[in-house]
Parts: sequence; C-alpha cells; structure tokens
Amino acid sequence: MSKKYVAEPFRIKMVEPIKMLTREEREKKIKEADYNLFNLKSEDVYIDLLTDSGTNAMSQEQWAGVMKGDEAYAGGSSYFKLLDTAKEIFDYKYIQPVHQGRAAEKVLFPVLLGEGKYSISNMHFDTTRAHVELSGARAIDCVVPEAGDPAKRVPFKGNMDLEKLEKLIEKHGSEKIGVIVMTITNNSAGGQPVSMQNIKKTAEICNKYDIPLNIDAARYAENAYFIKQREKGFEDKSIKEIVKEMFSYADSFTMSAKKDTIVNMGGLLGIKNNEELFQKLKARTISYEGFLTYGGLSGRDLESLAIGLREGLNEDYLEYRIGQIQYLAGRLDEAGITYQAPAGGHGIFVDAKDMLPHIPYYEYPGQALAVELYKEAGIRTCDIGSYMLGNDPDTGEQLEADFEFTRLAIPRRVYTQAHIDIMADALIAIKEKAQKVGGYEITWEPEILRHFQASLKPIDGE
Ligand SMILES: *Cc1c(COP(=O)(O)O)cnc(C)c1O
Repeated sequence: MSKKYVAEPFRIKMVEPIKMLTREEREKKIKEADYNLFNLKSEDVYIDLLTDSGTNAMSQEQWAGVMKGDEAYAGGSSYFKLLDTAKEIFDYKYIQPVHQGRAAEKVLFPVLLGEGKYSISNMHFDTTRAHVELSGARAIDCVVPEAGDPAKRVPFKGNMDLEKLEKLIEKHGSEKIGVIVMTITNNSAGGQPVSMQNIKKTAEICNKYDIPLNIDAARYAENAYFIKQREKGFEDKSIKEIVKEMFSYADSFTMSAKKDTIVNMGGLLGIKNNEELFQKLKARTISYEGFLTYGGLSGRDLESLAIGLREGLNEDYLEYRIGQIQYLAGRLDEAGITYQAPAGGHGIFVDAKDMLPHIPYYEYPGQALAVELYKEAGIRTCDIGSYMLGNDPDTGEQLEADFEFTRLAIPRRVYTQAHIDIMADALIAIKEKAQKVGGYEITWEPEILRHFQASLKPIDGE
C-alpha cells in the first residue's frame, strides 16, 4: 500500500549538519534529561520531530524579507504589508500580530471567559486549555467519537460532535459558554481535519445560542487542503477560496504562525468585525505584547510572516507536505503499525497504546515510546496522551486521555525521504521488541503544562 513519495518542490541552498550519537551515548543523555525529551540538547538529537512549530525552513524570499524588515517602533512598513496580506486572505477587519499562538490566547480568552465559564472545543490544544484554565474557566473537549479509534479511517476525524455540543450548551446554559473554539486541523486528535460542513454547522449552533466562535487556526492551510481533497463540492475550489469560506463562519481567530505560515516565530489574532471587542484587545496587546504595530515581534519577523502566509497556501507545496506524511503512513501500514489513521496534516500520531498494551495510561505509554525512539535512532518525538494531559485541576488526580499517542511532528521543508525512512525503520525495530519496553513514573511536576518540565524515571528502575 506504500504511497509514492512526492518529490520536494524546492532544492536545497543551505545546509545544517546533524550528527548521530551511539546508542550508549543516547541512553546516557536521556537519563541525564530525566527522561523528558524537552530537556535534551538539540545537538544530541539526530532527527528532531518534537514539534512542527517554529521548526520550519524559510524560503529565499522569506530570508530576503528578513533583510527588508522595517524595525520602526510604530507604523513600520512590514506591519502594513502583513496587515494587507492577512486581510486579503482571511477577510477580517481587524488583524493583530502577536509573538506566538498562546499570546493571542492570552490576549483574547480572559475577555471572553473567567470564573464559572466554559470553553467548548473540538479539542483544546494544551496551551489553549491552559489559557482557558488560567482565566478561571473550564475547558470541555467535544470531538466526534471516531477520533478515539485510531484504526477507523474516516475523512474528517477532527470534527466537532454537533449533537454533544448542543447538549453541553443546554446542560451548562448558553450564558456560561464564553467561547466555542474550532481547532483546525485538530492537533490533539492527530492533526485531523475538520470539514467545511462541520465548521458551518458549528457556526449555526453558535449563532442560535449567541456564543462567539473562535478558530484556533494554527494549521488552517493543511485543513483547507484536506477539504479540497476529501469534501464534495470543493475539488475545484482554490485553497485561497476554501480558506476564505472557513474563516467566514467564525467571529475571531487565534493563530500560531509557527505552523502553516512557515516562520520560526509569530502569531496572529483576527477579529472579523467586533470593534468594541478589538478595542479591549488592543489595550491588552500593548500591555502583554508591545505596541500594536509590532506585537511582540521584530519588523523582520512581520515581513517573513507576510511572505509565509502566501507560501503556506501554495498547492504544490501542500501536495508535497501532506504527501510526505502519507508516504510515512504507507510504510507503517505495510509494517502493521497503528497510528491515528488516515494520517493527518502535520505528522504521524503512533498509537502507543496498541504498540505497548502492557503499559497502563498512568505509566505513560506515549512517553515510553518517545523515549524508546530516541534511544533507537536519535529521533525526538513527544507524548500526546495522559502524560501531556496532566491532572484534574479540581481533584489533582491523573486524567486518562482518550488516546495515548507518540507524535512524530514533521517540520516543514526540512527533512528528506531518507530521513522519513529512518523514522519508519526505527518504529518497526521497536515494534519487534515492544515487550521489553517499560513504563514511567513522574518524580517531579509543575502545576500547569507539566510535560514541558516534569522529571520521570523508568518504573523498572533501570
Ligand atoms: C501550536 C498551537 C498553539 C499555540 O501556539 P504557540 O505558537 O506554540 O504559542 C495553539 N493551538 C494549536 C492548535 C497549536 O497547534
């Protein structure tokens, strides 16, 4: 079932050397890092799949833009270039640059949420959940049940469960729901896309109950590509047309530009037309991010972001991008390795529960597989499961995640087919000795977003 690799629509002009340590050296390094992959030095990593966030390779046009960045404190030309580009793509009246996605969340969410309120999402990303909780509100996930079955192949596994959404609104009272967040693609469910139909229907429910709809837009271009590939009626639409329609259904968006906008740092906040809301957000932006025309970024960042917005929507690029991930998925299919299928937009989410069935959720199978991938081939990945989910904020007890994934997030325009084959070969090798892989326990953890900082040790005490 192997899929042909879609050749890169670019050639390489600058190289960054990487080195591979011996297995012995890697075992030592990961132990010193308290079995937390975020603690590793990147120079000790051979293939870095920790995240696709900010790890993108910029184009020659973007680097040229870096030189042209206007570093004025106020009213720089790079700001206006970004504004014009973003307004053209999203058709929103108000666009605010911020330094990354969570900054947009920090500026927006406390205005919509607070004590006693709820945010409902097809799935909250970890920082999104954190900002909902920091405001005093609670985050409720409402993804379609198919998302919980990695082996079940449906085209839009990231969708909102519309029936459940209405039930939740009725249960808590619409006045208690401060915002509904549509995450496209649905990162925590495996980079799974959301259909146009589902975005539209969610917006109808929001209108019915008078609740604002916010798009968490980190991977909106990949979502648009999947809609074009998989949803009836969109085959002949351009990616730009699809994007415009997706955003037309929402009232606002928060965006990490470190993903589909192919830069290393940046974010956007968009407000369709609510001037009163935008006035409040402007004041908050100045306090947290800096003056409005730079929003926590350098002029050069604004310039490369404006260029990246367009490059991220290029269809040849998107075909290669998604094709690279589908090629890896095809190799795993041949080897009988389960992952969140069909493959999503930005990586492969290996079903660690299936590969390591002897490790219970409270011994973190996703994390165990991530550590093993590093030991095996110097590949750095991360857990998207109970280890990342953390504890119940009310009871302090370990929550059981719907999935136990190990995420291989693929940076954009960075790795080649040979690197992808190394990933597949490493997973196949681990599958063959899966019984020998043990679970982990946490020896120290901070209160919030613990997976970034926690210390762990193997249960078997090795
Ligand atoms: C990355 C991401 C964020 C947070 O963005 P940062 O730029 O990392 O702060 C929010 N939501 C989703 C879906 C993301 O993937």
